[in-house]
Amino acid sequence: MPYPTLVLKSGRDRSVRNRHPWLFSGAIKQLPKAKHGDIVAVSTNQGEVLAHGFFNPKSQIVCRLFHFGDSPFAFEEAAYWVAAVQRAHALRQPHLTHDTTCFRLLHAEGDGLPGVIADVYGEVVVLQLLIKGMAQRLPFLLQAFSALGYHKVWLKTKKNARVLEGVDVQGGWLTEATSKTTRSVQEHGLHFNVDIETGQKTGFFLDQRENRALVQRFSAGKRVLNAFSYTGGFSVYALAGGAAAVDSVDSSEPALALAEENVRLNFSDAAHQTIAADCFDFLREDRTYDLIVLDPPAFAKHARAVRNASHGYKDINLNAMHRLTPGGLLFTFSCSQNIDRDLFRKIVFGAAADAGRTVRVLYQLSQPPDHPINIYHPEGEYLKGLVLHVE
Ligand code: SAH
Repeated sequence: MPYPTLVLKSGRDRSVRNRHPWLFSGAIKQLPKAKHGDIVAVSTNQGEVLAHGFFNPKSQIVCRLFHFGDSPFAFEEAAYWVAAVQRAHALRQPHLTHDTTCFRLLHAEGDGLPGVIADVYGEVVVLQLLIKGMAQRLPFLLQAFSALGYHKVWLKTKKNARVLEGVDVQGGWLTEATSKTTRSVQEHGLHFNVDIETGQKTGFFLDQRENRALVQRFSAGKRVLNAFSYTGGFSVYALAGGAAAVDSVDSSEPALALAEENVRLNFSDAAHQTIAADCFDFLREDRTYDLIVLDPPAFAKHARAVRNASHGYKDINLNAMHRLTPGGLLFTFSCSQNIDRDLFRKIVFGAAADAGRTVRVLYQLSQPPDHPINIYHPEGEYLKGLVLHVE
């Protein structure tokens, strides 16, 4: 079946030929005769079909491309989507170990599936649908999950997706099989309870798994501060690595309650305390630590916020450096898509220079392979981290 066609302006085909998955309104000569959420073909002014994607006439990103080239595929049949989900699952297989029961199964553009996030917690899939085109093809995704043996799917809705992207699917259990919304999972053999209903994101920050394991390796005997701790992911790993004491600081009381619970799940007697505070203030207090983790929320949610966000990152990094004992380690992160690796490094450089300390980079960290980065979509590289040795 031919799809309605969106025609590009002459000379505006470069980003599509480069397989960038976002098509902006400025490149378009002629809109397709299609509705929001429909699958459309994208062609050059000369009629060469370059890609297929989901149409959204209301967005700056008029089309989210999921397939490049002219194609014999029947996108309105389940098989295409089931195969895509199976490929995503196969990609994760080498990284799945028996002692890790939670991982990201679908990472949107990173898996050629724009607008879909799916995280696995044991036998449950927590799904986020961010665009109408994918929301309309939800039955295909459910069929794909079922083929992989996942029969319990919880949909987490996002207000932005409803308002801006017209995703009007009701959240909650999507499948007949329902279950508890607190899930017990393991990560590298450590135990965590995850609240998929009221927690942030899909409940747990799976993207920090490998970075948490690195903290474990450096924690023996250290006094550790986990700033922006959420439910204590880094804290549990630090304690597993033999930390002398760990403080988890977050502004969310429910997150801290779960952090305490997660510590108790793993250790009968741990030197752990939770502190409900604003980290900007807390880092100004006169305490010292041997290892600090700084994993704040995305300060720059859009491009206009980059300037203020940069000040925010510099502030917490500078004050964290003041809090470190000589030879201390700083694990510092940014998950803002709008702050790239170079800028983040410059901000941290500025903090180091102001702190007046000798600082060396030991590791440059990123997101794990279950959060793959489509090389044509650099925006997908959102998690940046540095491990700094501060003399
Ligand atoms: N490192 C965590 C994830 C951090 S998410 C993990 O590995 O699981 C960011 C956290 O920062 C959230 O829990 C949020 O409640 C908290 N937060 C946001 N702004 C804050 C502030 N100004 N002070 C303290 N905590 C804050």
